[in-house]
Amino acid sequence: MFPLFRTRFISVGDNFDSAEHEGDTGGMEIAFKFLMHEYYSKDLSRKITSAKHEKMRRGEAVNKNCAYGYRLNSKRQLEIDEAAADTVKLIFNLAVKGYGTRQIASFLYNDKRLKPSAYKGNLASKPGTEYIWKDSRIYTILRDEQYTGTYIAGKFKSKKVGSRRTVRVPESDWIKIPDHHPAIIDIEQFNKVQEMLKSTAQKKSKPLQPRDYLLRKKAFCGCCGHALDYSATKNPMYVCKFTSVAYDTDCYKFRITAIELGTILFEMMTEQAKAILDDDLSDKNSDSSDSFDHEKCSADLQDETADSTSSSY
Ligand SMILES: [Zn+2]
Repeated sequence: MFPLFRTRFISVGDNFDSAEHEGDTGGMEIAFKFLMHEYYSKDLSRKITSAKHEKMRRGEAVNKNCAYGYRLNSKRQLEIDEAAADTVKLIFNLAVKGYGTRQIASFLYNDKRLKPSAYKGNLASKPGTEYIWKDSRIYTILRDEQYTGTYIAGKFKSKKVGSRRTVRVPESDWIKIPDHHPAIIDIEQFNKVQEMLKSTAQKKSKPLQPRDYLLRKKAFCGCCGHALDYSATKNPMYVCKFTSVAYDTDCYKFRITAIELGTILFEMMTEQAKAILDDDLSDKNSDSSDSFDHEKCSADLQDETADSTSSSY
């Protein structure tokens, strides 16, 4: 492999220089050593994993990015972050009153509660979107047993030794330690919300529709920058769902029919193709050696795309 990338491999300890061993690997001794090293590193990885697991079992392994509503003190213990915990309590109280995740998101927007990433100080990609909570984020908070004071670890494990890819562990195998840190939500309220979530999930349980459509991940809202969602109704639409709770944003309830968007795209592509063809023809006629400026053309195309998306609502 090294010669392929024109790399010379020198191992001083093994007295090995790939330049002196063209085509071979330096004999059995070196090959055996490599094998041992790989075995050693896998063994080390296993030991580190088991030490980490032991820490989890004792409730000592806490992630720096702890659950929203908590922060780590100087002893790396979870303590309540009052302002964020207040929002967590509000979310649970609304859920008990029967509010759905979308209604809760709407309430939080009106109440100007910063979404978790904005609260942590990460600047929103677009100003004005810092109060827009995703339904899924609210759902994750409502399902998080950590708010009752229970320590939870071991939700994921690596696919195989040394791999960075992880797989989800079934909940029955998670490590749970009750009364590990101060609770934000009492267990009765938490359990009540779980029951309510279960019954709404049962009511909603219709088979998921295939989420594939022509401009998937290709059509973006010109105002907030989020990918447009596809609504497969009789008259299919592309909609900006991101600002569905933010009534005072420019793209609130923005929608465009798939036919309309398709027509705009078709016209744009025709114009671009024409420009390229015209350019090619004039190049041939004048016999000039100037090559077509692809970069400029694609930049123009992007500008036009942004213009047409932002001007179409
Ligand atoms: Zn938008």
